This record gives sequence, C-alpha cells and structure tokens, in this order.
Amino acid sequence: MTMAIEPDDEALATALLAGQRRALAKAITLIESSRPEHRLRAHALLDRLLPHTGGAFRIGISGVPGVGKSTFIEAFGMLLLEQGLRVAVLAIDPSSPLTGGSILGDKTRMERLSQQEQAYIRPSPARGALGGVGHQSREAMLICEAAGFDVIIVETVGVGQSETTVAGMCDVFLLLQLPNAGDELQGIKKGILELADIVVYNKADIDPRAAAIAAGQLKAAMHMLRPTSPHWQVPVLQASASTGAGIAEIWTTLQHYKDTMRQAGAFEERRRRQAETWLWNLVETGLLERFRSHDAVRAALPQALQQAAAGQASPATLATLLLDAFRP
Ligand code: GDP
Repeated sequence: MTMAIEPDDEALATALLAGQRRALAKAITLIESSRPEHRLRAHALLDRLLPHTGGAFRIGISGVPGVGKSTFIEAFGMLLLEQGLRVAVLAIDPSSPLTGGSILGDKTRMERLSQQEQAYIRPSPARGALGGVGHQSREAMLICEAAGFDVIIVETVGVGQSETTVAGMCDVFLLLQLPNAGDELQGIKKGILELADIVVYNKADIDPRAAAIAAGQLKAAMHMLRPTSPHWQVPVLQASASTGAGIAEIWTTLQHYKDTMRQAGAFEERRRRQAETWLWNLVETGLLERFRSHDAVRAALPQALQQAAAGQASPATLATLLLDAFRP
C-alpha cells in the first residue's frame, strides 16, 4: 500500500537520489510542513524513497547542555569525513515550553563541519508541528539516507522525553557525561543511562584523574541497570572533544557495536521494533487528533471536562461517554 507521487515530486525524488543538495533541503522542508496537502505529498515522497533508505548507521547522541555535544559532533564528523564517509546531523530540540526558547541554541554550531561538501547539518524543526518533532526527524533521517549519507547523527539534549525519542529511532545511543562526582547516580535516577549503549566522559583533558575515577565508578555501577541488549556490555569511555583525544576509539567502539549486534541478528531486530513502535505512535497521534476534532466529541467535551473537574461524575464514566460519541 503506497501513495501516488506527483510529477514535480517525482523529479524531486530523482534529484535527491542523485545526491543534489538543493533537492535534499527541499524534501526536508516538505516533510516538516504541517499543511495537510504537504503531508500527503510528503507521504508519497517517502513511499517513493523508502526502497533507498536503511543504508546509514544511525547514531543518537545526548548529554546535558554544555557537556560538549557540538564540539564532539564537529570532531567526530570531521573524522568520518576523512574516512570518506558522508555525514548528516539532525537535531531534536525539546524547546522549553516555558520560554519557548531553543535549548540546543541558535548560535552557529559546528562551523567547520557545516562548511564541508560531504556533510549536511539540519537545524531542529519548529515545535508543535503535526505528529511532533521526533516524527519529523525520523522522516528527515530517511530522506538523508535516500540521499546517500553513510552516517546520520541525531542529537538531542539531556532533558525530558527527547532521549527516548532519539534512542527509539537510532541504531545506537551514545551518552556524553561530565566527569563530576555524583553525576553517575543522577543519570541513573533520571532513567537516561539505561538508554545508553555507549557512555563517554567528555572533557577528560580538564582533569584526567577525575574523568578516570568517574568512568570507573560508573562501570562498577552499570550492573544495576538493565542492559540495552543481552548481546552488548555498555562500555564507559573517556574523551576530549576539544583536543580530539579518544574520538577515534569511540568510532571503533561504535563499529564494534554494529558488528556485534549484526552478528546476533539484533541490529535488524531493533529497527523492526522501532518501525512497529513508530507506526503505533502515528496511529495514536492520528486517533487523538480525529477524536478531538470529531463533531459529537467536541460538542460533549466542555461539559464532560467541567463535570470531571467538579467531581460530578467519574472520569471513567465521562471517558466512556465521549468514546461512545466518537464514531469515526
Ligand atoms: P553542548 O551544549 O553540549 O553542545 O556543548 P558545546 O559543544 O557547545 O561545549 C560547551 C563548552 O565546552 C564550549 O566552550 C566548548 O569549547 C567546551 N568543550 C567541549 N568539549 C570540551 C572538551 O573536551 N574539553 C574542554 N576543555 N572543553 C570542551
């Protein structure tokens, strides 16, 4: 079951598959649009491109603001380019609902990498678009794969739900940490560490001893966590994004992860599960949208909310009434 593609978009797909940069930017702009007619076109374009996707290594990277994500991705990206690989960087910015501001920052990031012909950096899409930002980034990732990128880096910031989103769309999830005493346990408490397939203590150049101690302590504490895969023991590494120390070792470890998971059949299995979860997320989001805009539901909703708030009827009864009123 696929959607028919318009002639203009067929031309766009052809240009994109040929690796044309303008086509890439145009395709991503289309999938980021929330206008319903654009969504339909975007779906048809994605269906057209789908056979050409799946070839990249999808790497998720997270860490608190200031841990050195931009610096790391710049150094890491340049290393990959030196090896002849093409690199795309996407960002998921869980912008603060209070300030509306961007946490990843609007400053020019990864200046060197962004000037390279074989690299593509896409700033995070606007908030509040249909299906959520994670959904758009997933589609942007597929577009980049069709355009021939070998490695897709998806970056997010160490707060909120965005880690789960990124870990759920990538082959491997790398967590950057600061070597400050006590941070290990913070990470465990927040539930972020248990998503990590690889942990890296960055800024090890500042105080190498502190970094070694932090890495050692975390390694010892890792057994408290459920492993991300039975086939993989989470390594705890040290690096300095600004001097470049440890970056090559991280790339080696990432490749080792990929080989190990592939051999165990777990690499493809993770992608299959992710595609299923993605489908369910889209169905849930779509259902909720249809529910909220359904005439009978809209007519009954204000009173139901009021009665629930006033304690005049139980939310369970009111929810049943609303669901019964919803005949798609
Ligand atoms: P982000 O907010 O996680 O993207 O962090 P940035 O990459 O913007 O880095 C925050 C600050 O830390 C910048 O001033 C960087 O130059 C600095 N920084 C990043 N990595 C290192 C590192 O490995 N060692 C040192 N000494 N400084 C670093």
